[in-house]
Amino acid sequence: MKKTISIIGGGASALILGCELNTKKYTVSIFEKNTALARKFLVAGDGGLNLTHSEDESKFILRYTPYEFLETAFKNFSNKDLIKWLNNTGLETFVGTSGRVFPKKGIKPIDVLNRLEEKIKSNSVKINFKHEWTGFSENNELIFKTPTGNKQIQSDVVIFCLGGASWPVTGSKGDWLSFFKDKKIKTTPFEASNCSLKINWPQELIKVIEGKPLKNISIKCGNKIHAGEIVLTSFGIEGSGIYPLSPQIRDELNKLGLAKIYIDLKPLLSSEDALKKITNSRSKLSYTENIVKQLNLNKTQIILLKSVMSKSDFLDPIKIVNNLKNLELLISSLGPIEDAISSVGGISLTEISEDFELKKLKNKFVIGEMLDYDAPTGGYLLQSCFSMGKYLADHLNDL
Ligand SMILES: Cc1cc2nc3c(=O)[nH]c(=O)nc-3n(C[C@H](O)[C@H](O)[C@H](O)COP(=O)(O)OP(=O)(O)OC[C@H]3O[C@@H](n4cnc5c(N)ncnc54)[C@H](O)[C@@H]3O)c2cc1C
Repeated sequence: MKKTISIIGGGASALILGCELNTKKYTVSIFEKNTALARKFLVAGDGGLNLTHSEDESKFILRYTPYEFLETAFKNFSNKDLIKWLNNTGLETFVGTSGRVFPKKGIKPIDVLNRLEEKIKSNSVKINFKHEWTGFSENNELIFKTPTGNKQIQSDVVIFCLGGASWPVTGSKGDWLSFFKDKKIKTTPFEASNCSLKINWPQELIKVIEGKPLKNISIKCGNKIHAGEIVLTSFGIEGSGIYPLSPQIRDELNKLGLAKIYIDLKPLLSSEDALKKITNSRSKLSYTENIVKQLNLNKTQIILLKSVMSKSDFLDPIKIVNNLKNLELLISSLGPIEDAISSVGGISLTEISEDFELKKLKNKFVIGEMLDYDAPTGGYLLQSCFSMGKYLADHLNDL
């Protein structure tokens, strides 16, 4: 008789498992509490489904915090492998100007999902909707809440793919932590990542900066610097320029209650050159107009500079340049997890083997965002889920 594999949670990680597990060897079933697969995957596609990134593999893996747990899985199924796999599945991709990889124009996120679901079905994987996993029985069987009452299911292999805790409307609520805690498995409470960050802007400033972007900047927090762009909001700031600094910001917030970030408004201009530009210029413009012209500053940049400097400091070119290159902003908290793109927290990485098996529960595996790691936006989140899923499918197929 074939061994059984139960995949709990039908999101991104489950999609690749469903496509890749060998159903000649195993009877495979997916149990999903919603009435459809991969709601978060579809939400992810709202702003363009960023499936992975095209950057060099050696740089790619270093985007994860920590990265070591993912190294073997990523080597086994890298960004290049994922692109090939998607193409072979009939899903053509293209690389955007930022190096991000998307489905080819005309292929909508729902088309990607439908194609993967077709592949899962043609692989004879059974999908059980409206099956909410509600914990383990005393002998570690799985208990599900279903429309026809509670069900207890025994399975030779179990793969948990329950996702993180951001955007809970999609079904990924992270409300299962206690089921693992009860089994003495170390878990960490969920926190937002790739999220908005709270800055207590003065009210009068909000009126003039809300919705304004800061483009071509670099931002530093702790020992990490990232270049990109952010948007100023009434809450604080958000955007792809700040998301990769989430681990450092979260760390400082947890340790100090506040996080300091430093914005370089002109990363391509050295402090020396900036100072030369504003001190050597001989124009009939006012002091501020001259600075705006020489440093090519827009209205938002000058308003921000003025907001962090006293009037007398603003009249000092050296201080202007110091702030231009190192504008300090104080982050007082992370934004709500409900609006975050991803979360950290969940099952501690110390609880799993290299093959993603729970050390305390044999033949039970955990993959995807329910593990406690961090990844920035840019396709890194989905890539990690696909790499883990493919690696685990290959591992189980080879047993
Ligand atoms: C707004 C937004 C935009 C994003 N954009 C991108 C992007 O462009 N690129 C990128 O790489 N990533 C993006 N992401 C992140 C990416 O979607 C997730 O990292 C990825 O979906 C995680 O996959 P997963 O399989 O771990 O979990 P999920 O996809 O969250 O799937 C978990 C599944 O488990 C089910 N489930 C939960 N609890 C139970 C239970 N008790 N019983 C049964 N089923 C259960 C859920 O209903 C869900 O279907 C985005 C996320 C958001 C919110």
